[in-house]
Amino acid sequence: MRAEESAHSTPFTPEEEAIYFSDTYKLLDEGVHSNKKRKFPYRYWDECLDRGIRGNYVDHFCNSKRMISNILYHFISNNLYSCIERAAGKAGFRIQDAYVIHKGIFADSLHSPQSLHSEGRAIDIAAVRIKTFWKGWGEINFQRSGGGVFYEELRSCWGETLYYNNECPLFKGQPEMTGSLGKEDPDHQRHLHLSVPYCINGQHAGPYFRR
Ligand SMILES: [Zn+2]
Repeated sequence: MRAEESAHSTPFTPEEEAIYFSDTYKLLDEGVHSNKKRKFPYRYWDECLDRGIRGNYVDHFCNSKRMISNILYHFISNNLYSCIERAAGKAGFRIQDAYVIHKGIFADSLHSPQSLHSEGRAIDIAAVRIKTFWKGWGEINFQRSGGGVFYEELRSCWGETLYYNNECPLFKGQPEMTGSLGKEDPDHQRHLHLSVPYCINGQHAGPYFRR
């Protein structure tokens, strides 16, 4: 496996994020969405109330000011819920509601400047919580079920979305490998890495990893 396919930086914990972004919160609250540190504009994701997709960091309450790139926010808020719905359908569930439990978005660019986490363009998902009519709330945990139908279909849906809407080529010709890293990678046994790769005109653009 090529290094760029598997290399991964660990995103911030909520506590590390708060320290790293302590100056940036002020800029965002003042309406400034970019600074010299970041190549791409960023914003807050209101994990508690977002109308597209809600979530929380593992073992933490939802955060109304989770730091995220505009582009990852756009794709998760517009597409992740419908991909979860499609994946649940494939696994035999009709869902009423869903949210994600994640292990962070941004990582320190000093550690891996090529990682999509360094620009807030990737999220590590540990589990998806779904609500169905018959069983109420339940959890589809990635460590346990990452190789199964639900996550396979979720990844295919995400990859197709990036192919059609973000000018990304299919990774190895496979939608389920496009914009995600999972059980096929030794570093991704416990979380699903979902990213929005930097793509221009149907090509991956440097210096970032392709997924
Ligand atoms: Zn990741």
